[in-house]
Amino acid sequence: MNKLSLFLPAALAAYSFRWSWWSKNKKGLNVLVYHKIGYHPRGSKLKELWVTPERFEKHIIWLVKNGYNPVGFSELLDCYKNNKPVDKLVLITFDDGYENNYKYAYPILKKYNAKGNIFIVYNTIGKVNIWHKPEKEVWVNMATKEMLLEMDRSGVIEFGSHTMNHPRLAEISHEDAKWEITESKKQLENLFQKEMFAFAYPYGSGAYNKDVRKLVLDAGHIFDFSFKQGKTQWPWKRDDMPIDRLFIKNTDTCFDLGLHLKKGIAKFF
Ligand SMILES: [Zn+2]
Repeated sequence: MNKLSLFLPAALAAYSFRWSWWSKNKKGLNVLVYHKIGYHPRGSKLKELWVTPERFEKHIIWLVKNGYNPVGFSELLDCYKNNKPVDKLVLITFDDGYENNYKYAYPILKKYNAKGNIFIVYNTIGKVNIWHKPEKEVWVNMATKEMLLEMDRSGVIEFGSHTMNHPRLAEISHEDAKWEITESKKQLENLFQKEMFAFAYPYGSGAYNKDVRKLVLDAGHIFDFSFKQGKTQWPWKRDDMPIDRLFIKNTDTCFDLGLHLKKGIAKFF
């Protein structure tokens, strides 16, 4: 045996440890988080957050084939209130409310009888992602009110709040944070004429800050979603922690998706 024939399998084995296949299975609530579905425009600095429609469709087919049930916030509420198991449930969430969610994700979800959930930044409806500095991330269209209402009527998509302006809640005044949280809930309830009980922290800021989290729960949200990678223990200890999520990037294959769901993460580095 020459040196290379020994080295190569060892190197491959070491490389494969990047993936979590060797770690312990993790039980708990499965919440996927996507951002933009589509083809990243020129100049995008966050290319990995653009999942192509082809990749997204493969993920949905894989979920359905493997017995996962993609549900909306209302089904999760039923499980929470009635202490039902969630092992094969998956919540597909999208942060921010981009037009491309309507254009690409919504028809794919509909096609496979799957449900999705979108967190809306109220003041940017029908506008662009103005919270990003354009030199850091290009501006793209956000969904319009008409698109949101159509998706709501279809029953395919449910909605939650992601504040008024997408601030870092832990870095603004208590008064401003309170307004961002309560006003967005109120405006969305006006728009959809239904209760908004799910909230996602922009950038995850404030999710683990006692004061900010209290504002979110006191406003009447049942569920609050962090920006931390992982699965949340079920039954959920609501008083102790927000719900963690599994980050899906365009480079995630169906193998990666499976690892996220089973292990709470696909790759360690
Ligand atoms: Zn966001």
